[in-house]
Amino acid sequence: MTEMPAYWQNYIDGAWVDGEAGRLAVVDPATGEALAEVARAGAGDVDRAVQAARRVHLSGALTAMRPVERGRMVQAIGRWLLEHADDIAAVLTAEQGKPIWEARTEVAGAARYFEYYGNQAETLEGRSIPLGGGYVDYTVHEPYGVSAQIIPWNFPLEMVARSLSAGLATGNACVVKTPELTPLACTHVARAAEWAGFPPGAVNILCGLGEEAGAALSAHPQVNQIVFTGSVPTGIAIATAAARNVVPCVLELGGKSAAIVHDDADLAAFETDIRRGIFVNAGQVCSAMSRVIVHESRHDELVERAVSVARSLSVGPGAERTEAGEGMGALVSEGQRDRALGFVERAQAQGAAVATGGRKLNRPGAFMEPTVLTGVTPDMEVAREEVFGPVLSVIPFRDEAHALEIANGTEYGLVGGVFTRSLDRATRAAGAMRAGQVFVNEWFAGGVETPFGGYGKSGYGREKGREALWNYVQTKNVAIRMRGGA
Ligand code: NAD
Repeated sequence: MTEMPAYWQNYIDGAWVDGEAGRLAVVDPATGEALAEVARAGAGDVDRAVQAARRVHLSGALTAMRPVERGRMVQAIGRWLLEHADDIAAVLTAEQGKPIWEARTEVAGAARYFEYYGNQAETLEGRSIPLGGGYVDYTVHEPYGVSAQIIPWNFPLEMVARSLSAGLATGNACVVKTPELTPLACTHVARAAEWAGFPPGAVNILCGLGEEAGAALSAHPQVNQIVFTGSVPTGIAIATAAARNVVPCVLELGGKSAAIVHDDADLAAFETDIRRGIFVNAGQVCSAMSRVIVHESRHDELVERAVSVARSLSVGPGAERTEAGEGMGALVSEGQRDRALGFVERAQAQGAAVATGGRKLNRPGAFMEPTVLTGVTPDMEVAREEVFGPVLSVIPFRDEAHALEIANGTEYGLVGGVFTRSLDRATRAAGAMRAGQVFVNEWFAGGVETPFGGYGKSGYGREKGREALWNYVQTKNVAIRMRGGA
């Protein structure tokens, strides 16, 4: 990696600037030591960014362009990220803790969003509506104008890419508020946008505190649409701010997602799902497979396999984990690690057993052992609340109805999974699960092309897939009364 700069500025209206609220420290979670400082935006910076985006929108610079041209610029952002993937991944691992191979996957995933939505730019077509003789009627899809995008720390680059790519492809000018714990890798997207030829103000990327810059952005009267990815309490605050200004928002919130594992499931193959579902990014994944609901006849075998997967992972600094599939890194912060440990402790007090893990590592940094809990009952806190750490809860079920009742028994509804050889069981579960996405026989099956979003407290609106485009445009109908004449 090229040397880590000691200080990173915000990008507003095409310029790299300091924050009027000073600076924030970014910590390396693998060591607990300071990594760099980042500009801390205040309300004035947010206002400048929104005004710049608004100017771009009103100028028509993005909307007058032929969509294919705009799409090519969006795609160019992705290409730039891929060209700089090694440097960006190193920054991401340093600030977030994830293994470097996962960070590289995240850079590729971010680039993929720009590729996909760049392609979609010219697909938003209106329709012509027949009104009878003497009338011509058609619809057009227009961007909202200024899109505000507020980002969480777990996949910062991919989350910026997810919203920004769709926002730009549809012709919105965007203001992004990056997460205070992991803002650094995101700033590369500004460089990419500049290189791709976006005019100053079309892409603004700033960091600051949630209650300061985030709140100022979500309450700004000239923001026309908000996309938020993060926790439920913050989602409620943002939806409230959006409601005050009567602007739409998309909320991608947390989850407590369950895999139902039937007695005919292939448990050897399921080991890969455990590995990917709960231990990638140290379990700090909104759609993590944090509960496994297994038929009682296969419970012991499944626990044995889950324990062996957990114990096979070497835990340590992300920078040293270079090969795909290798090990687990630090959690994003010691606070997040201690929060996850607290869940384990309270689960034990409520009667759950630690089959493996459950402790922090005896070394500096935010490390925690991959953990499997048994004896978890659906009413326990750990079965209902999002841990956001490498903690798998195993819950036995008697019959299909019981399994579905447990799976649907939380306030969340982000994703779900069913593992069985029976097509009937699989499709019944897919129909009955209250979740925005159901995986059959492979956790995380799907991609950028497949719509993603929550039921219940997991939020509303959809990101990914063609469905996401509808969040960024509003439909205008044009009805023409033909009067004849020359
Ligand atoms: P968070 O809600 O604490 O913060 C998310 C973002 O909101 C940050 O940029 C933060 O600065 C900002 N923010 C905080 N308070 C704010 C306020 N009052 N007004 C405006 N902005 C504010 O969430 P987090 O801890 O960064 O992320 C973890 C959460 O995100 C988990 O619950 C996880 O499930 C969820 N998540 C969901 C998805 C999804 O797509 N559904 C993806 C990733 C993470």
